[in-house]
Amino acid sequence: MLLEVRDLHVEFRTRDGVARAVNGVSYGVDAGETLAVLGESGSGKSVTAQAIMGILDSPPGRITGGEILFQGRDLLRLKEEERRRIRGAEMAMIFQDALSALNPVLPVGDQLGEMFVVHRGMSRKDARAKAVELMDRVRIPGAAARVRDYPHQFSGGMRQRIMIAMALALEPALIIADEPTTALDVTVQAQVMDLLAELQRELTMGLVLITHDLGVVADVADRIAVMYAGRIVESAPVHDLYKAPAHPYTRGLLDSIPRLDHKGRELYAIKGLPPSLMHIPAGCAFHPRCTAARDLCRTDVPPLHEVTGERGSACHFWRECLDG
Ligand code: SF4
Ligand code: MG
Repeated sequence: MLLEVRDLHVEFRTRDGVARAVNGVSYGVDAGETLAVLGESGSGKSVTAQAIMGILDSPPGRITGGEILFQGRDLLRLKEEERRRIRGAEMAMIFQDALSALNPVLPVGDQLGEMFVVHRGMSRKDARAKAVELMDRVRIPGAAARVRDYPHQFSGGMRQRIMIAMALALEPALIIADEPTTALDVTVQAQVMDLLAELQRELTMGLVLITHDLGVVADVADRIAVMYAGRIVESAPVHDLYKAPAHPYTRGLLDSIPRLDHKGRELYAIKGLPPSLMHIPAGCAFHPRCTAARDLCRTDVPPLHEVTGERGSACHFWRECLDG
């Protein structure tokens, strides 16, 4: 396994109390595989990613338990210097907002080239040639002429391609993409997602794709891990999960995707809001919103039950859910 997160716990200490952002998350991704991590905002999906990358806001954030194995090494035991070397070269991250991730006063070619100067000791001139090559690779038209342009001179979609180019520059083994297309128009979203998926396959990288949008993952992900209140509530190969969810929360998410064959019908929405991470409900954290909840759900935290060898569900009544 390229990346294996084991029983990760992360909390944030604030003036108002402790927010339990990640409460025992385990997931893994292999080389050449795409894992989609799905959840609403505040589900812990980005915090988990930040812990993996070693960019957690700390303090107030603190990893209180677990392991993060990358190519067999526990990242949490490495020195910061070693982690810095791994970051960018062996694992890279793509963020939602390219405009704030890129330096506004530096031409994009210089920013791309910088990776090769810093990590590979290349000359400025060679690094610029590499930058053009990368911009070509992510299909930015007229790359050679645009290498001196600044981030604001590109459209949102093109900027996101530049972010992808930056992440791919040193051909890392793992990419973590946090809502990489959320800020884009729907048509551009699909193009950028297709590009990312294509490059991921070509370079047989592991990809962790973080999203709140179940609609974007069907075509690109191999597996899905659904998060709620800092836990994984369902984990499954993507097609199994679409065919028959084994957790009421996943079922609710699936039912709220607009579908062509359901035109005119009112869209389902899960009632209520995700809980505050400072006051996670007892028992199953989803119980206040779950239409299938009963007494046991209000007292006992459901473990991740094995549904099949490849699937897990953290619902006491997963069998009933699976049967529809
Ligand atoms: Fe709903 Fe209970 Fe299952 Fe939680 S454990 S998802 S409350 S049925
Ligand atoms: Mg987020």
